[in-house]
Amino acid sequence: MDLLLLHPPATKPAEPPLGLAVLAGHLRSQGFTVAAIDANLQAYLYLLDPERAAAAAGAQPATAVRRALGQCERSLQLLRSPAGVASFPRYATAVRHLQTLLELYTGADERLNFGDYDHRRLSPFVPADLARCAKGEVPTLFAGYFREQLLPEIARHRPRCIALSINYRHQLLPAFELAGLLARAFPEIPLIAGGGMLTSWREVLRHLELHLLPFRHIVFGPGEGPLAQLLRAGGAAPYFLDGTTTCHTADFADFPLCDYLSPLPVLPVSASRGCYWGRCRFCPEASSPTHAYSAVAAGAFPELLLRLAAETGVRRFHLTDNAIPVATLRALAARADDLQQLRWHGFVRFERALLDGELVRGLARSGCTLLQLGLESGSQAVLERMGKGTSLVDVAAILAQLKAAGIASYVYVMLGTPGESPEEMAATEDFLLRHADEIGFLNLALMNLPRDSDLASAAAPLLDEAAPLGLYRSLGDADRSAARRALTRLQQLPEIRTILQRTPPYFTSNHAFFFPPSGQS
Ligand code: SF4
Repeated sequence: MDLLLLHPPATKPAEPPLGLAVLAGHLRSQGFTVAAIDANLQAYLYLLDPERAAAAAGAQPATAVRRALGQCERSLQLLRSPAGVASFPRYATAVRHLQTLLELYTGADERLNFGDYDHRRLSPFVPADLARCAKGEVPTLFAGYFREQLLPEIARHRPRCIALSINYRHQLLPAFELAGLLARAFPEIPLIAGGGMLTSWREVLRHLELHLLPFRHIVFGPGEGPLAQLLRAGGAAPYFLDGTTTCHTADFADFPLCDYLSPLPVLPVSASRGCYWGRCRFCPEASSPTHAYSAVAAGAFPELLLRLAAETGVRRFHLTDNAIPVATLRALAARADDLQQLRWHGFVRFERALLDGELVRGLARSGCTLLQLGLESGSQAVLERMGKGTSLVDVAAILAQLKAAGIASYVYVMLGTPGESPEEMAATEDFLLRHADEIGFLNLALMNLPRDSDLASAAAPLLDEAAPLGLYRSLGDADRSAARRALTRLQQLPEIRTILQRTPPYFTSNHAFFFPPSGQS
């Protein structure tokens, strides 16, 4: 085998990893033999094995743990069957039982839930901490899975190269631990790392001339071209490689679609990479994009969904675009009759095109059940300063259109943008209260200032100065505490609490479309 692709923990185990499926699809089309393992899904299922969890619980587990152990198999089954969407309370209870079991493994230093992994004594943004993980000096709660299950499986594959795809910060510490184990077990196999998380380090790694051992190569941007180049050339290539070629065709053959924690199988798919807008000053996609913008021809995208549905039997799609292009939305609406058996959700901008009721109804008929939208602020002045390019008048009308068409909205709001005044924060509260009836789901957060944003002065310190690979700069304590107070106040308002309580625990937007506020699915 030429290449083994790995998706390390921890991310939400709700759907297969699109990055691996795209790389596998592209490299196979080039004639390489490739396998992909979703080590994230495997790790969660390993930890949630009833016998293993019972052993971790010890002889005298607490009542909540005893109850969770008794419900373990039933909970796993419920979250992987259509019955999981019949009752939100039953679904939420099953998720909480499984979370109780995950916590059996965490000890004093680690924290794990469905999607997040943190270590109290190790930072994923400190090279020395990554090196300690790689050397095996601080084993994580994934070490048992890596050693007992994953390494023997890799030994059976015997690949020429292994590539780890690291897209989220919660994957970093386990990924480096895994890389260290692989380097010691298979010293002859070159290890390559890539993915969105590492790409966000492109400038800083080059600037610091930092080689992240035990990886022999780091790929920035799309991995399709560099991986093909490495497989053809052997090890004779620079340490840092930049990818430019983007492929949109995914091959999901390696993934056990029914094993994911999702009441119905969902496939991720993207109509574009990068962001066609790319001007929001708070957004890493604007200041240091992971991918240059490219898109599938709009007219070809409905065909892509139909082909994937026919090949896999899956009817539900997660469009992972940063913002689905308007031309793609129009193409989906135009093919509504052909797509009506499918269901899909994803991010869009509050584009003026969505004021067109016919387009919105067409999207609903094409299977759109939920749209994620970055409102960010209820103050027009803040939106202007952030380069958001949207109008609150349009936003209000679009939310009403979506609700009328039966499409749930999942709205993202952030407080604490640089210089945001108390009046501007109050305007956000006012906007949300006026439109609470039209908002299906809500994500409220404090703003994080990306290190490369032009809102940050080059002199502004990193959020954690001891972590040179950190992604964010400090916003100043005074602004932060005012924003924190405004956020707490918002969360306590009854109208807002009603919306927040609809959020599926831990799986949030990945499962929200199973539980639309109006009851239709
Ligand atoms: S916030 Fe969304 S629309 Fe704005 S640049 Fe980032 S990805 Fe694009």
